[in-house]
Amino acid sequence: MKRLSRKATFIIIVVLMIITVVTIYGFNHHKLVNKVQPVNKCVSNCTNAVISPSPFIPNQELNEQQRFLSTIAHKLSTTPQNNTFEYTLLRAYGAVFLNQELGVKLPQKVILATEQEAQEFQTTLTMGQVDGTRDCYLQKSAADALNKARTLQIIPLKSGFSGDCTRNFATNLNFWRKYANNQVFERVQQGQETKILGTVAPPGTSQHLWGLAIDLRVSNQEQRKALNQNGWFQTVENDLPHWTYIGWTEENLPKFGLKNKVVNGIIYWVTPI
Ligand SMILES: [Zn+2]
Repeated sequence: MKRLSRKATFIIIVVLMIITVVTIYGFNHHKLVNKVQPVNKCVSNCTNAVISPSPFIPNQELNEQQRFLSTIAHKLSTTPQNNTFEYTLLRAYGAVFLNQELGVKLPQKVILATEQEAQEFQTTLTMGQVDGTRDCYLQKSAADALNKARTLQIIPLKSGFSGDCTRNFATNLNFWRKYANNQVFERVQQGQETKILGTVAPPGTSQHLWGLAIDLRVSNQEQRKALNQNGWFQTVENDLPHWTYIGWTEENLPKFGLKNKVVNGIIYWVTPI
């Protein structure tokens, strides 16, 4: 009898041990499966994000300067350091680097230092003609958007010549020599002179080289509205005829840190740096 109950106790212990092992294994296995699933999900999401054409929108908790710099970091190969000539240029002309349209190309740096560099960049662009002009060309997306604005309102070019539109290195240089000289250039490079940047761009730095700017004769709010609705804005302080193609609507601009600055009743969307 005693032996029988011992045997029974042994069998019960063995059965309990088997049940325990199976339960623990089953529980862990379940946990493992649960753990693996989110990883799998993340992998597929991350892959989608990389190939997705969705634009970069900075974290809105960052300040304006951080939002601007984090966005342009996606376009420039290196972000210019504070107190350099490049940083001064980025401050004056950098709003254009917020353009994230797929068809739009931007240079990897703020200066195209030589005629050859400018030419090499310009040959990579897909251009479009501004309707009703003989030889005014812009990057195609910019031209299309401008043509749309000009169906809404009559908006004349500033001079009517091709120099209002995309310029080559030599034209940029000629414009500079008309208004400035080497001494002014040195002062700009050293950060002692910035006002000239609202009149004329130093050699190799004009938004007109990039095919994303045009000089227009705008005289009323309806014209401004038509341009703004189509992604065109005044971004260079005091350069009244100069318009820049950013490709976003107005309500999106603050998301990237751009600041709305009113000078003599005109709204300029300027960089926050
Ligand atoms: Zn201009």
